[in-house]
Amino acid sequence: MGIEETVYHIEFVNSRETSSVALSELVAGVTDFLAHFGGAYLLGKTFYNIVGDGDGNTKFKRLLQTAGYKNDAKGFFAEITEKLARSTSTNPVPMIVNNVVLPNLLVLSVLEKIIPGNRYISARNVSQYEKLANESIPENERDALQKVMDTYPVRLSLHTLRQMRISKNITYQYAPFLEELDTVGQTNTWIGQFHQGLLEQMYQNRVIFLLNMSCPVYCRFCFRKHKESRNQTNPTQADVKKAVKHIDQSPSVKEIVLTGGDPFLNKKNMMCPIDGLKEVPHVQTLRLATRSISYYPHLFYDNDAFWLNYLKIKNMELQQAGKRLEVATHFIHPDEISLDSLALISELVKNGIAVYVQTPFLEGCNDEGPELTRLFSLLRGAGAELHYIYIPCSPIHGNSVYWSPISKGLEVSRYLRAHLSDRIIPRICTATPIGKIDWHSSGWAVERDGADEHFIWIRTPYTPEYFKAFAERMDQFDNVRVNSEGTLDARFMAQIGDERLFIGSRKAGPTKTAVTDHEALKDLQTIALKDQRIGCAIVSKPSNKLSRAHETRVEIEATAGDEELEYIRRDDRITDVVFSSKQDAMESLYQIEALIRRIGNIHHVNAVRLRSLKFNYHPEIYTRGVIDLLGSLNRLTVANPMRLEIETQFLHSNEIRPAHEKLVRSLNNKGITVYSNTPLLATVNDTADKIHSLAFGLRQIGIEFHQIYVAGWPLQEAWSAKHPVDLQDVIDIATRVRRDGSGREIPRYVVLTELGDVDFGLTSKILTDNGQMRLTLLPYTRDYYKSMDPEFEWPERVTTDHDGHPVLPISGLINTADFFMT
Ligand code: SF4
Repeated sequence: MGIEETVYHIEFVNSRETSSVALSELVAGVTDFLAHFGGAYLLGKTFYNIVGDGDGNTKFKRLLQTAGYKNDAKGFFAEITEKLARSTSTNPVPMIVNNVVLPNLLVLSVLEKIIPGNRYISARNVSQYEKLANESIPENERDALQKVMDTYPVRLSLHTLRQMRISKNITYQYAPFLEELDTVGQTNTWIGQFHQGLLEQMYQNRVIFLLNMSCPVYCRFCFRKHKESRNQTNPTQADVKKAVKHIDQSPSVKEIVLTGGDPFLNKKNMMCPIDGLKEVPHVQTLRLATRSISYYPHLFYDNDAFWLNYLKIKNMELQQAGKRLEVATHFIHPDEISLDSLALISELVKNGIAVYVQTPFLEGCNDEGPELTRLFSLLRGAGAELHYIYIPCSPIHGNSVYWSPISKGLEVSRYLRAHLSDRIIPRICTATPIGKIDWHSSGWAVERDGADEHFIWIRTPYTPEYFKAFAERMDQFDNVRVNSEGTLDARFMAQIGDERLFIGSRKAGPTKTAVTDHEALKDLQTIALKDQRIGCAIVSKPSNKLSRAHETRVEIEATAGDEELEYIRRDDRITDVVFSSKQDAMESLYQIEALIRRIGNIHHVNAVRLRSLKFNYHPEIYTRGVIDLLGSLNRLTVANPMRLEIETQFLHSNEIRPAHEKLVRSLNNKGITVYSNTPLLATVNDTADKIHSLAFGLRQIGIEFHQIYVAGWPLQEAWSAKHPVDLQDVIDIATRVRRDGSGREIPRYVVLTELGDVDFGLTSKILTDNGQMRLTLLPYTRDYYKSMDPEFEWPERVTTDHDGHPVLPISGLINTADFFMT
């Protein structure tokens, strides 16, 4: 029988739903998929070694042969369709054919033919849910599950339903389950004092607009499944206009988050405030929040890609008005990644719209580390920025299965620091009832609540004065208290997991002068420009033109060649290549261009970063020709992306000039991100005021504030020896930036050492030992370094703690109080 004549009639084992699909359609689909997406980057090295290079037909032939179906596409698809017919959402059948594990993305492309369509569906009863998910709910569970569905409705997109058939990690997020009836937890995790109509103002400088109360899919861990949230009526156009007017009269508000539910489900309510806010002079950024990018991407492609095109047009209009548009989305597990999602992110970023990702931390789903590493790495390749991981997910009724102790989230931060590109490390954040904190910089666990062991007290950066301007009822609430340093502690429902994380309160310190030593700043600028290399080599250097700065990152000279490229090619953990030479990357662009084109063939590298301090000090070297060339080297594609970024350094807000804004915009509109690494330098920029101004200024012109180096940066070496940075100032800086800035302005606070980067407080411990400060690097052990360099031995001055983590002396720091973030 020829290919065209074979049709599979699939009957799903539980639902008894049927579907018919022609073999020719499946062959064409898989051949096309392999032709365009069949590389190692998306599908993994093992599978790539099977299909190899070549056109789609050649790859498919190799796949058939290894799967035991040489020249027998009919038999191959008979096995796959039979497996898919048996696959249920709670028990997905492993898609393994003759020991060949078929990647999820490939199977999804097959499922799109068998279960086509892109709509979303509400399941009102158990039988309907069984049909959708190919489930068979046992008789003795049906009543209870119906009760769950009556309490917390089920809504799913066909996109998620396909993903659920092959991944438990997707089912876990969206399928109803009996434990949802547990009454433990809260109805709301916020106090409610910030709510006014469609407006919610939790921070002075930014406001949330709740424009639509429902979502295309209901996530089981989210408060939105609760009736009182879900059944709120949507605001009217008049309400929306009133809210825009309110913003017009609130000059302190700089950013608006347009959210819901999913605001993109409500065209009128979404379009009206975008047009209205465009005209408000003090508004700088509109942040549009939608999870549809992950679970319902077709929303953006429907109606001739209405929303996608709308966003591009509005971004241009907002740019003309000196404002920016950003899209915020959620991803939780790598099994959610789809070609549509990646394409959507890339398309937005290529058009100058930043996309940033937030991730709730879910027990039993993304709480180990490797899954988040894979997820974030793929999102980074597509062009996304990482914003937060929320630990734990909100402690509301019916979602206790998802709760993790705080300690688990902090442990994962160590794993990520060791195995993920520094550019996509998330801030580890908890949303307390009075606002967010970042663990071990702007907030920490103070103590367990004396009255109820299910609650802990968390130090926040917020003060009573902070709220006075917009939420005067703050002092009426019993889940906040003023602590000994004058900020507020918030009472929060969570398990700590490790009693040592309770570190008490700190005392208020003296207010530091904000006067800048301009002479010193000038000298330091000159020194920085003399040699732009960082020179961090955590293991022995394979050549004098390449140093390994991290498992995922190498720094190479513009004069690197075959030897260095071969080193990169051999280690598929390397995702980032930083061009770091004595002179500015823009001055070696001819050589760098040639190297980037060669690195483009190394599938595991998904980002090249060009260190360019002249971006700050001599932006005029970025001519039209340079910008065009950089744009041509930036490859934001789904199959094998290689993102280009500019790494620069701003030391002080007075360095920011209008020319930078124009330049960033030109680069952003080519999908190129610019980020700043900033070393803390006493008398120059080490106060809360100065860093807050710098963070605000960078955000205003579109530069990502990547990392603040607390110690260890080359520029700090000589300066900080004479003018050390006070650890208490770092806490004050983090407190101020979190409290008074946008969440998108917050840098990572990092210490650079000869053994790599660690996060201040979060993935390191600083202690004083006989007057010498010593730093423990929690992400790393000797095995970590040996995996990159079998000959590795600890440097002489390094000792280890009882868990084998390196401990080394650190200079350039002092501590003027007896409070340590450990
Ligand atoms: S999409 Fe967002 S708001 Fe909607 S249910 Fe999921 S987590 Fe909640």
